[in-house]
Amino acid sequence: MDTKIVIIGAGVVGLAIAERLSRYYDGVFVVEKHKKFGQETSSRNSEVIHSGIYYPEGSLKARLCVQGRDMLYWYCRNKEVLHRQCGKYIVATNEEESQELESVLQQARGNGVESGRILDQDDLKSYEPHVTGIRALYFETSGIVDTHGLMKQLETDAVVGGTQMAYESRVTGLRRIEGGYEVELEDASGKFVFTTEAVINSAGLEAYEVSRMAGMDDLCYRLHFWKGQYWSIGNGKHKMINSLIYPVPQARLTGLGIHATVDLNGGVKLGPDAVYLEDGKLDYSVDPSSGHAFYKAARRFLPFLEPDDLHPDQAGIRPKLQKPGDSIRDFIIREEGERGFPHFINLIGIESPGLTASLAIAEYVAKLLKLG
Ligand SMILES: Cc1cc2nc3c(=O)[nH]c(=O)nc-3n(C[C@H](O)[C@H](O)[C@H](O)COP(=O)(O)OP(=O)(O)OC[C@H]3O[C@@H](n4cnc5c(N)ncnc54)[C@H](O)[C@@H]3O)c2cc1C
Repeated sequence: MDTKIVIIGAGVVGLAIAERLSRYYDGVFVVEKHKKFGQETSSRNSEVIHSGIYYPEGSLKARLCVQGRDMLYWYCRNKEVLHRQCGKYIVATNEEESQELESVLQQARGNGVESGRILDQDDLKSYEPHVTGIRALYFETSGIVDTHGLMKQLETDAVVGGTQMAYESRVTGLRRIEGGYEVELEDASGKFVFTTEAVINSAGLEAYEVSRMAGMDDLCYRLHFWKGQYWSIGNGKHKMINSLIYPVPQARLTGLGIHATVDLNGGVKLGPDAVYLEDGKLDYSVDPSSGHAFYKAARRFLPFLEPDDLHPDQAGIRPKLQKPGDSIRDFIIREEGERGFPHFINLIGIESPGLTASLAIAEYVAKLLKLG
């Protein structure tokens, strides 16, 4: 075989897997169609280190988020990646939401998140004087991270460990052969083919296409794209909050509700919302007419906002396994030996909390991959 392991995709998940696998194996090779790492979902998100509150108990999302969060804080501290454990408030603005906080707290405890505590109105005011709510749930384990800095560090560590990075190289074909796979790659000089013992499909929005390329046309792996738009807060109003401020979550989690996220440069963004993109088209535009909906949603708990404080920011796309109306689906992280594709690991539907969970996902993948 020309190489041992091919990782498709240099987003935060592919890079974390490369960093981890390069500790155990020689011949790790990352292929990425863009010029640089993290040009898709990994650089179009909220950069929040989630506590692991909302996901169904026992799900991969819940387990890998809680493990990944602690691993990420440890990694950031050790490698001097910029981050801040700023904490998160889930703010109830009426009685019904206030009651709902109890079930959010129970859900969090079920997931092993012990840091949650209920605050009354006065406590909330003392920490976040400009935020309005009748009660809140506070999680000190939530934070923010410089995602670009994190990916840069993971890439450096992977390369130091022996990983080879191939940018501007798109995987266009995959074929099962005796003892491994044949990979067809297209770069500036044209197409060529090489062989590998193992394939890790961490192609994000294209993960279903990549698994189909290899011959696994599983409709359960079909991805649905949900755009998340952001609006930033200007006119000096970004200085009025210090931490992450969320509404009480909706029943069916297509998103966490429009929330306010601080960043490491002192800015504040509102969002993301959740807009279903028909036919899987990649649309990163921010609809200029959506500002009013953001204003209305956020003004419930940020009463100091005026409509002209909001400016269109960026958008990202979530690769979800669910369509509108479907129930929440878990991450799929599967070694496909049982269906005749040994040492082929698919990672499908790695939406939020994929950034938080990235290091735990990498550890999980390393356990699934049993190479000699
Ligand atoms: C709006 C939004 C907000 C979010 N907020 C948070 C948050 O606050 N906290 C959190 O934990 N998570 C959050 N997430 C989720 C998180 O961003 C993702 O889970 C994570 O970035 C996924 O990383 P990835 O490496 O799997 O995918 P990607 O970053 O999409 O990387 C996949 C890579 O594969 C490459 N690729 C695809 N096909 C091929 C091919 N054929 N050949 C070569 N290369 C290929 C792509 O170019 C891409 O670089 C959010 C997501 C969105 C959309």
